[in-house]
Amino acid sequence: MTEKLFEQNAYCKEFTARVLSCEKKEEIYEIILDKTAFFPEGGGQGADKGTLNGADVLDVQNRGEEIVHTVAQEIPAGTEVTGKLDWELRFVRMQSHSAEHVVSGTVHAMFGYENVGFHMSERSMAVDFGGPLTAENILEVELAVNQAVWENRSITASFPTREEAQAISYRSKLEITEGLRLVTIDGVDCCACCAPHVGSTGEIGLIKILDFYPNKGGTRVEMIAGKYALEDYMMLNASNKGIMKLLSAKRDEAESAVNRQFDLMNELKAENARLSRRVAIAELKPNEVNGSAYAFCEQLSYDGLTHCTNFLLDKGMNVCVLLSNMGEGNFNYVVGSQQTDVRPLVKELNTAFSGKGGGKPNYAQGKIVCDDKETISGFLEKNL
Ligand SMILES: [Zn+2]
Repeated sequence: MTEKLFEQNAYCKEFTARVLSCEKKEEIYEIILDKTAFFPEGGGQGADKGTLNGADVLDVQNRGEEIVHTVAQEIPAGTEVTGKLDWELRFVRMQSHSAEHVVSGTVHAMFGYENVGFHMSERSMAVDFGGPLTAENILEVELAVNQAVWENRSITASFPTREEAQAISYRSKLEITEGLRLVTIDGVDCCACCAPHVGSTGEIGLIKILDFYPNKGGTRVEMIAGKYALEDYMMLNASNKGIMKLLSAKRDEAESAVNRQFDLMNELKAENARLSRRVAIAELKPNEVNGSAYAFCEQLSYDGLTHCTNFLLDKGMNVCVLLSNMGEGNFNYVVGSQQTDVRPLVKELNTAFSGKGGGKPNYAQGKIVCDDKETISGFLEKNL
């Protein structure tokens, strides 16, 4: 049985131990020590990283009563080793995990919901609670958990006997019968947990709830804590500073500044549409055929084509066909009339030029394919 140094002292960063066994497994070695400060993956927290006699520890896993360290090089049984943890990584994970306990304990105390799922990703965490939470609830929780941080409450681990445990109220996902380890945050939470935690809530630094949403009948809460929360704030602040400089706005005016830009963009879109129509009319060269007309435009939108069609109909034309050359033999068309049903003409147009489209008796739009503008003109001269 490997002695777990991290269970009693989460701040053990360096230790000496004896190699009990070293087994070669393909390209790597599995090493078991008499004792270790390396936390094996478990309880939602990742395996510690670091070195054994300078060799990188690639993974740490529980195997029965023993803890297996995966190392790239051989360290023979009997060797006295010095283990060094990647302390920066371990400490931020302790900050995050302790923050999760503070949040889960607080939600449990305030709303009676259990933590039914915990996912620790690279930086942030997601906690699933067994009931609904509103935006107001989340705000209350966020204030309460940070209040617990400011009060710098102690965090301790204990190993109660089965009898002692019966007298204690604690949160636990599983029914633990043996080797129960309780992590107690003074006045905030008591929870069964195998992982190392910071010594007091003040070390967490900051707990920020990033998002929350309904999930499987309960609520998923996404959060970030400690150094990761500070780095997240630094990133967002730098980003906000850049955006606010572009918008010439104060740092807390993002929403109104962006809304002003949207209003301006919509005005410009409307202005652009008005100008496009005027240019289209100015450049329009209609060809008259039996009281009807057709015309070609370049790269004009359906809105522009419709506008030109209406312009010619207002001039007293019977049927108007407007085509826009969109390049590579593609033409968009609009056909309109005030008295004549344009659908038979549109059908013939589609048949003649592999077209698609249609509409109502007095209006239709679509697209056709033809390499040669003159062929389309010829068709319209004959059919209008
Ligand atoms: Zn835990």
